[in-house]
Amino acid sequence: MTDSMPAPSFGPVEFLAGGQSPEDVFGELEARRSHDVRWREGRAFSLAYYAGPEVAHVAEEAYRRFSGENALNTAAFPSLEQMQREVLGIVGQWLGANDDSAGFFTSGGTESLLMAVKAARDRARAEHGINTPNMVLPTSAHAAFEKAAAYFGVESRRIPVRSDWRADVPAMHSAVDANTVLIVGSAPQYPQGVIDDIPGIAAIAREYDINCHVDACMGGVTLPYLAKLGHTIAPWNLNVDGVSSISVDLHKFGYTAKGASVIMYATRKLRSYQIFITSNWLGGLYGSSGVLGTKSGGSIAAAWATLRHLGDEGYLRLTDSAYAATKLLANYITSDPRLVLRAKPEAMLVCFGASEEHGLDIFAVADELWRRGWYVDRQEPPRSLHCTVNAVHQLTIEAFTRDLARVIDYVVSTGAHGAAVPYGTV
Ligand SMILES: *Cc1c(COP(=O)(O)O)cnc(C)c1O
Repeated sequence: MTDSMPAPSFGPVEFLAGGQSPEDVFGELEARRSHDVRWREGRAFSLAYYAGPEVAHVAEEAYRRFSGENALNTAAFPSLEQMQREVLGIVGQWLGANDDSAGFFTSGGTESLLMAVKAARDRARAEHGINTPNMVLPTSAHAAFEKAAAYFGVESRRIPVRSDWRADVPAMHSAVDANTVLIVGSAPQYPQGVIDDIPGIAAIAREYDINCHVDACMGGVTLPYLAKLGHTIAPWNLNVDGVSSISVDLHKFGYTAKGASVIMYATRKLRSYQIFITSNWLGGLYGSSGVLGTKSGGSIAAAWATLRHLGDEGYLRLTDSAYAATKLLANYITSDPRLVLRAKPEAMLVCFGASEEHGLDIFAVADELWRRGWYVDRQEPPRSLHCTVNAVHQLTIEAFTRDLARVIDYVVSTGAHGAAVPYGTV
């Protein structure tokens, strides 16, 4: 077997009889990443976030020191309880939490969204006797909501977005019925990067006494700092009456190690529906806050350490530079007649496609960018490229726009075609 040929899922894999020295193992690891995207060099516009070597060192070193600690039961690890509490306290300030708010640290945006749906379902069952639950959400809300619907037996009612890609609030209102347990908005939504009308959506939740989740996995860190920098931001957090929970990913614009997100509820009572407790086995009372059982202390320590290292001013500075890069990219796209910007970015997401009259295959553009070492997301409908711009791109965005222009020249002149590539892996 050669390195360039990935093994089929259960193909022959050599299990070394005697094992290898640490040096050889690490050498092999480094060799294997040679074809991976060079995200620390600002070449990935998806999947990875980077705020420079010092911030990365803090997160990685904290992760290393606590990787074997287990947050399944913090009775044995009071340090993890304390760090989670402090992380939630700081993130709560970004989200407009008050004294009655309460949250949990989770492994990522998906777990936060799974738990938001589970909590809404269990609340409606307990308080309103609803046993055939549905949820109402715009087509722009993240795919993880579909995963939650499938896992937890909640019907997903997807409502088409308006022409400006924002949630269609009156249409969502019409889709709500007596079995609706949850209504959703995003700040911003992932595909086109715009903020939904959260007050409009939350008002429906108030009217029906159901949960309203705001998915701020992307915006939960950047929106408060954009506001501090003087940008006008539409209302999006727990200060909006009727919002019951909100999610924010620290492993995105929090610039910490992977495996870090927060779900914050408006009240302790709302949070109580997330918890799972059983004694229906031979091992005694077992309670857990989320999907995971054993939970590495590494991601908790890394999140705490990164917040501690960057402080308020660090996040302000990183948000400022990420937004400057976002604007440069959006301006380039607006200036190139062969491209259309799907929406003016309201945080750090830039989505664009080919303008109708230029016969350009936008996925072929992604292929050619990747050949030059740039990784961007592809999405549809409509066929578009999607860039998540973060602090590292301050250093590379001009080189990227120059390569983008060259790549478009090439794709137009050759008439090349490209294929869709999924955002996840099966
Ligand atoms: C990233 C993201 C998610 C999913 O989070 P994971 O960390 O990938 O599980 C959900 N919603 C939005 C808006 C996101 O940006």
